[in-house]
Amino acid sequence: MNDGVQKYVDKAKKTIAEQHRYIKDEVKKWKFDTIAVHGAYSVQEAIENNQGSIIEPVFMSSSQAFRDSDEMEAALAYLIPSWTYSRIHNPSIGYLEATLALLEGYGFGGETGCCVASSGMAAIASATDPFLVKKSDMPNEAINFVSNAQIYGGTFQQFNIRKMQDRGIECRWVVDPNNIDEWASKIDGNTRFLFGELPSNPGLSFFDLQKVIDLAHEHGIPAIFDTTIATPALLRPIALGADIVIHSVTKTLTASGFCIAGAVIARKQITCNVENDEMKEDFATYIKLLPNRDLGWCLSPMQAILTLNDMRTLRSKMDLLSQNSMKVAEFLEGHPKVSTVNYLGLEDHPLHEVASKYLWLVDAEYDDQYRKPVNRYGHLMSFQLEGGITAARTFFDRLKRIWRATDLGRIKSVATIPSISTHQQMGEDLRSMASIPADLIRLCIGAEHPDDMIADLEQALSKI
Ligand SMILES: *Cc1c(COP(=O)(O)O)cnc(C)c1O
Repeated sequence: MNDGVQKYVDKAKKTIAEQHRYIKDEVKKWKFDTIAVHGAYSVQEAIENNQGSIIEPVFMSSSQAFRDSDEMEAALAYLIPSWTYSRIHNPSIGYLEATLALLEGYGFGGETGCCVASSGMAAIASATDPFLVKKSDMPNEAINFVSNAQIYGGTFQQFNIRKMQDRGIECRWVVDPNNIDEWASKIDGNTRFLFGELPSNPGLSFFDLQKVIDLAHEHGIPAIFDTTIATPALLRPIALGADIVIHSVTKTLTASGFCIAGAVIARKQITCNVENDEMKEDFATYIKLLPNRDLGWCLSPMQAILTLNDMRTLRSKMDLLSQNSMKVAEFLEGHPKVSTVNYLGLEDHPLHEVASKYLWLVDAEYDDQYRKPVNRYGHLMSFQLEGGITAARTFFDRLKRIWRATDLGRIKSVATIPSISTHQQMGEDLRSMASIPADLIRLCIGAEHPDDMIADLEQALSKI
């Protein structure tokens, strides 16, 4: 490194130290709501870098200009805070990543990092593929990973087709994730990670994740969770010891429905049996600066700011959406034409107890309304009707206000039939393993008045 490059690196040390100090001494001491509103975006950052803009600006620019060749060299070697080229990084993306890392790391003493991607599926690939590398001298190495079978249809396809069929990497399915012995029985010396989705979409499966985290660590492998349905307002696995968390940011984190986006949040120093010190040390930064740079599934800066804007009210929104959903689930449970309701908040749901151990509205004890810990169960539910698939389709087609769409996590109520939409490609046998009956209806309740949604459900039910 020449003297000129060194000068930029030395100068950057002060800026980096100040950013760390600000996060550690100030931001980390705030409540969840304050972090959701401000993230790491400080007055100093606004004034020095953004003409005082109180809202994080959208940097609609492909690339960053440098003062001279020394600064360019330092930036491209990742030695100074810089963004270079929007496929690698961008200031607007950085604001979103900082907030997500802080929210997911809320209540966790250590540091967390985040890397956002162009979709939830891209986030899942970025969080899992780095563990599935084969040694160059052992191209036929029989590596595997373990996942619960009750997962989002797209994730199932990525694991079953893209990894297993296309690349010969075995995915071992856990059919009863509450049986820790079943998880344990699937692990061997070639297992690279444990993956769990909870609560699961659309079946609302749930399991004791602490046991799965402990089991992964006994085997020296990472525990990775997709907690899209809970959001960090209800569940934060990293504080429980998990290594990596994935979100389809598309869903409740961007409840307005303005974009497709994904995120990977990781603790520093993950547990891992793949020889790669950089990856172990800071997984989120590693995937961002290396594999994801090369693969190119970056997020647009416009979408980053739209998501950031939605996330500022995440906690109160999750509280409202959960309460509305509870009312709707209770209505459905009491209706004679409804045969089963999967909503983890219902007391007689078989997984209510295990879910209640983990799903807590963050900071309820600091909320004047509650002043004590409060369970909340999110806004996803699924149900079946007396009369099977014919009744389900008739009911579905009669909905007037609730949207028919393959979507969830919205501020607006949306319903779908997974077997003909999100989980269609899996086929009947695999859907049966993943507990997704053909006539299951998935419903995600929004912020409308719940009485109006109940009225819509009531009129549609009266038609069958
Ligand atoms: C939607 C979803 C995904 C995929 O996210 P996209 O943003 O649609 O790519 C992954 N996991 C869960 C639980 C989901 O609901």
